Amino acid sequence: MDLTFRSDAYIDGQWRSGAQRFAVYNPANQQVIAHAPDLGAAEAEEAVATAHKAFPAWAGKAAKERAQILRRWFELMTADLDRLGRLISLEGGKPFAEAKGEAAYGAAFVEWFGEEAKRAYGRAIPATTPTRRYVTIKQPVGVAAAITPWNFPMAMITRKAAPALAAGCTFVVKPPSQTPLTALALAELAEQAGVPPGVFNVVTTRNHTGDVGRVLCESPLVRKFSFTGSTEVGKTLGALCVGSTVKKVSLELGGNAPLMVFADADLDLAVKGAVASKFRNAGQTCVCANRILVEDAIYDAFSQKLTEAVAELKVGPGDRDGVEIGPLIDEKAIEKVERMVAEALASGATALTGGKKHPAGAQFYTPTVLANVTRDMRVNTEEIFGPVAPLIRFKSEDEAVAIANDTPFGLAAYFFTGDVNRAWRVAERIEAGMVSINDGVFSNEVIPFGGVKESGLGREGGVEGLEEYLETKFLNFGGFA
Ligand code: NAP
Repeated sequence: MDLTFRSDAYIDGQWRSGAQRFAVYNPANQQVIAHAPDLGAAEAEEAVATAHKAFPAWAGKAAKERAQILRRWFELMTADLDRLGRLISLEGGKPFAEAKGEAAYGAAFVEWFGEEAKRAYGRAIPATTPTRRYVTIKQPVGVAAAITPWNFPMAMITRKAAPALAAGCTFVVKPPSQTPLTALALAELAEQAGVPPGVFNVVTTRNHTGDVGRVLCESPLVRKFSFTGSTEVGKTLGALCVGSTVKKVSLELGGNAPLMVFADADLDLAVKGAVASKFRNAGQTCVCANRILVEDAIYDAFSQKLTEAVAELKVGPGDRDGVEIGPLIDEKAIEKVERMVAEALASGATALTGGKKHPAGAQFYTPTVLANVTRDMRVNTEEIFGPVAPLIRFKSEDEAVAIANDTPFGLAAYFFTGDVNRAWRVAERIEAGMVSINDGVFSNEVIPFGGVKESGLGREGGVEGLEEYLETKFLNFGGFA
């Protein structure tokens, strides 16, 4: 495959090779694609210092000028969707069509927040005495730093970088060690778009010690830290941020999304939604339906239709035509899925289809439907992050809501029903940041994305996404006669 890409880190507008480098693998065949710089605390500090130096000039530009630069960045991404899609697919394993979809989704945040930059309005507040005038103004927080995961190598960066730059913040990102190349492609396009040196920096690292993360969390020059990844790591990094320098923190963490199918649902729509939600990116998204709760009366009919649809999913390397399910990201991921399924089968679940690895390669897992799953099984209580759909039976709406909410997580939830009253009732009772009714896919740049409970803090996308990078400053004008 003829694919050009950068593999050096990007700090202060310079491409940096680093003394040590680490291998980046293609998860479809475990071959090395490239070596990226394994940078450490010193380079992270340098990137932060650079972003701090670039901040006054970037923040001082008119919002309209920042918006024009973001627009150029967006247009360059849009013109480059094929290459970005191939790169995302190559290092992350997603089927090409899905990877190209991520590139378009990632670019859309840059378009949206460039437009929103011009609408960072303050307020005039009626004062409590005639001698004063009260207003608020919005100002960029300062240097923003981010750590992002491999399952959306592009979109999880633009969802943070675009609002940061739009607000007037400068930005340092540590991309995941599995997928640093897409981050570097974003830097390449930022440079071409005229993003000034120091405004967007990419510090690659293998993260064997967490050194880079520590600098981003603890540096007093960083005023905002945004993390997307597992709840476990998010808790550690959030505590570091607050414990050291009390910076603004956003955490987009793990989920355990329920997808409920009520007896009054359109079953074909529910099957389509369940497949779209569960099997996207081979089940490796934070909003993937983790467990599927099905009302007793339609359990058999639904499980049969779902099994037929899942058995037809085409598995293979992301660059092969028509492939719908790619490899899992690494050896650890495939081992975890194998273990969780084996435990469920040993405890009485049955595989209606799948239930084992796939012959396409070492990191491929056969799309699976598990019946007779009980609430105590790990496939119900933990995020699976693989192409496995556990089915749990329920008898009433109250029971479905109780099972759905019986988790420390609260990111996404889905349900299918034909009853509009139930739709409102259940939507209001579910403990999740995002609820999708009669639809298995919902994410885009205009909506506030984020979770409750241990799924995180803050929202990304929508008008809310810009606020995360702004401070509200109150001004009191006194002395009016
Ligand atoms: P992860 O292990 O938490 O890693 C995420 C990022 O954190 C990577 O860049 C990783 O770097 C870095 N990291 C790990 N340990 C660190 C430490 N001690 N100090 C500093 N950085 C550290 O999560 P993952 O397996 O990549 O991603 C999957 C998780 O992300 C799932 O739980 C999923 O639900 C969640 N997620 C949430 C959202 C959301 O919007 N809520 C979106 C996508 C994914 P290295 O790669 O270099 O180790």
